Amino acid sequence: MPAMTLVILGASGDLTQRLLMPALYRLHTLGLTRDLRIVGYAKERWSREHFEKHIQKALQAFAPDYKTSDWNRFRHQLDYVGGELEADQLGQLKSKLAPASLFYLALPPQLFGTAAKALGQAGFAKSPRNGWRRLVVEKPFGTDLASAQALRQEMHEYWEEEQIMRIDHFLGKETTQNLIVFRMANRFIEPVWNAQHIAQVQITFAETLGVEKRAAYYDKAGALRDMLQNHLMQLFSLTAIAPLAEVNAEILRDHKVEVLRSVVPITPATVDAHAVRGQYRAGAIGRKKVVGYRSEPGIPRSSCTETFAALRLEIDNWRWCGVPFYLRSGKRLASNYSEIAVQFRDVPGGLAKAVSAQNNWMIFRIQPVEQLDLVVTAKRPGLELAGRQVVLTAPYEMPHDRGFSAYEQLIMDAIEGFRGHFLRFDEVECAWKILAPVLDAWQTGAPDFYAAGSEGPSTQKRLLDPGQTWRSIARNGT
Ligand code: NAP
Repeated sequence: MPAMTLVILGASGDLTQRLLMPALYRLHTLGLTRDLRIVGYAKERWSREHFEKHIQKALQAFAPDYKTSDWNRFRHQLDYVGGELEADQLGQLKSKLAPASLFYLALPPQLFGTAAKALGQAGFAKSPRNGWRRLVVEKPFGTDLASAQALRQEMHEYWEEEQIMRIDHFLGKETTQNLIVFRMANRFIEPVWNAQHIAQVQITFAETLGVEKRAAYYDKAGALRDMLQNHLMQLFSLTAIAPLAEVNAEILRDHKVEVLRSVVPITPATVDAHAVRGQYRAGAIGRKKVVGYRSEPGIPRSSCTETFAALRLEIDNWRWCGVPFYLRSGKRLASNYSEIAVQFRDVPGGLAKAVSAQNNWMIFRIQPVEQLDLVVTAKRPGLELAGRQVVLTAPYEMPHDRGFSAYEQLIMDAIEGFRGHFLRFDEVECAWKILAPVLDAWQTGAPDFYAAGSEGPSTQKRLLDPGQTWRSIARNGT
């Protein structure tokens, strides 16, 4: 009997093929999961051999390091059971579970509650004396505060909060984790990481992609629910947290919640000063002409769903009072680029003016390249005492490094029980509370339109403090 079992519910789906199996395969090739049995569970009454073929095809397509010799070892870790999400059918899994077993819900979100309950009814939520049971859930966690709270209640009928690992895969990304290490393991950052020195923070996740094959889901969700409530809110809280004294998941999560609780509440009267929504019209991505959102297959012609959302958040605490944090994300924008850009305040004094010193920026670039840029003023070579902006760049990966996808990290953490990269329910709840007035306001009215391939709606400017500008999406933030 292997030491651990990972059961993937929804093993016939896209997430399993594109992300989970390639990550598990990589962990296998590194020798990290040799004593793990991976059991796929889905409605299809497939044989184990059929499942193996299905996964082999997925790995050939999505695992860059696929090798037949490795596959021939990895496939022995796989097993499959077909059945519905009902306790009696899930019971078939009993003989396959090791004392330490993990259930991964790779299912449509509306089934999270049903699956958690059915697993509980099958008796799988109770940890055995010589092992443990954990439940891994993908985002989204509800569609608003009330539905998130209802889902929590449903899951908690059988599962304890400590057993539930809520994934926001941004937390497993290398650059997100580098944000913590770089900030907290370097002497010179902490003294300036506050409102005295920082003027603003811009967190951007821009895509050239349109709604693609996700029309049905996306038109109900929109950019605020799809990106800002979860991924960008995580980057926001990690940027703003107080330093950690040790690597401790609960302290990390406490610090994040403290930031979210300190956000100045948006009210119905201040929604327009804090939030802008947009929707793409026809335009061009590079030279390619693309249709507008309302002409995409599967999207109603009168849809008012936002494909772009921008927020201005303020934190009312000693560290950040007076520093606006801007978060924005959108589809069909000018480029694929994401970053956390921190702008420092003006340098005082005549010398800085004489040499035309500009503001310093520290930029954690996530896409298209992973690197850290520090924008500084240095002397322009020549006879004059004049300055110019130069960029000190630290590529995230050194030539011999080989990065991981977020899922390798998250799977290892889930196996090891490290909860730092998973969301606690109070974090989810706080994020929904912050956005509730915006979601309410956006139930009516229409978004501002922007041309596909542009910077997003021009109205996003109204969120900025006087003298500030948005970083350019077309020029990847420069
Ligand atoms: P998917 O391709 O639609 O597959 C989901 C799985 O759920 C399939 O095995 C499907 O089985 C099963 N399923 C659907 N309806 C069912 C029902 N009524 N009863 C029992 N099983 C049912 O979805 P996915 O893209 O893999 O996404 C799974 C989860 O991961 C979602 O919560 C999604 O938000 C999240 N996620 C996905 C990605 C991604 O890139 N795909 C990335 C991040 C997060 P059938 O095939 O038989 O219908």
